[in-house]
Amino acid sequence: MMELFFEFFEGMPQQAPGSAKSTGKAWEMLTDLPDLPRILDAGCGAGRQTLDLARLSGGRITAVDLHQAFLAKLDSSAREAGLEDQVRTLIGDMGDLDLPARSFDVVWSEGAIYNIGFEAGLDHWKQLLTDGGWVVVSECCWLTPNPTPKCADFWADEYPDMPSVEECLAAASRAGYAPTGHFTLPDSDWNEQYYTPMEARLSWLKKKYGTIREVFSIVQMFEREISIRRQFGDEFGYVFFLLRRPLA
Ligand code: SAH
Repeated sequence: MMELFFEFFEGMPQQAPGSAKSTGKAWEMLTDLPDLPRILDAGCGAGRQTLDLARLSGGRITAVDLHQAFLAKLDSSAREAGLEDQVRTLIGDMGDLDLPARSFDVVWSEGAIYNIGFEAGLDHWKQLLTDGGWVVVSECCWLTPNPTPKCADFWADEYPDMPSVEECLAAASRAGYAPTGHFTLPDSDWNEQYYTPMEARLSWLKKKYGTIREVFSIVQMFEREISIRRQFGDEFGYVFFLLRRPLA
C-alpha cells in the first residue's frame, strides 16, 4: 500500500496545494534578507517550491525530505533547470535535524508541517535560524468555527488536530516568533495546481493497477478529499504564515 501510495505521489508535480505565484507572494513579503539567503526547505517533496525559491532568492537551498525518491526527482529537475548549484538535497526528519545552529536565514515549508505538528515544527526550527530569520510555512487550517458536519467528519478522520488560523498565530507566538503576516492560498492552488494533476494520476493508477485491492482504497480516499474540497472549500484552506525570529 505504501509503495503504491508513493509511486502515485512521485508522479505528481507537487504533493500539496500551492503554486509558484503563492510562493512568490510570500517571498516578496520578507524583509532584511542577505543577498544570498540560506534557505532550509522542510518537507520539500519533489521540490516544486524548492526550484521556485532558488529562482526567487538566488540563494542556497537545503531541501529535506524523508522520502528518497522525491529527492532524486528534485536533483534531476534542478539539473534540468540549471539550478543544481543552488540546491542540496538531504534525507532526514525535518522535526529532528542535526544541522548547525543559526545556519539558515529562512526555513520554508509548504504543505508538510502537519506531519510533525505546527508548534513542534516551529520549536525545532527556531534554533536553526539566525536572529531576525524567518519561518514561512503553509498549513491547512479551519477557516470557520462552525464547519458543516460532513466536512468536520472528514477532517476528524484525516487531520483531527487541524488548527484554526488563530491557533497557529498563538502557537507561533508561544514558540517565540513574531507573526508578521498571513494569507490564504487561492482555490486555484488546490484545483488547477493539485487536484487536476491528481485526477490524471488517479486514472493512471487505476489503469496500471486496477485489479489490486489497495488501489481502490487509495482512489477512494483521494476522491473523497476532492469532493469535500469542492463542496466545502470555504470552510478550510491552506494558509501561509510569515513568522520572524526576533533580533537578539
Ligand atoms: N512541499 C512539497 C511536499 C508537500 S507533501 C509540496 O508542497 O509539494 C509533504 C512532504 O513531507 C512529503 O514529501 C513527505 O515525504 C514529507 N515528510 C513527511 N514527514 C516528514 C518528516 N518528518 N521529515 C521530512 N519530511 C517529511
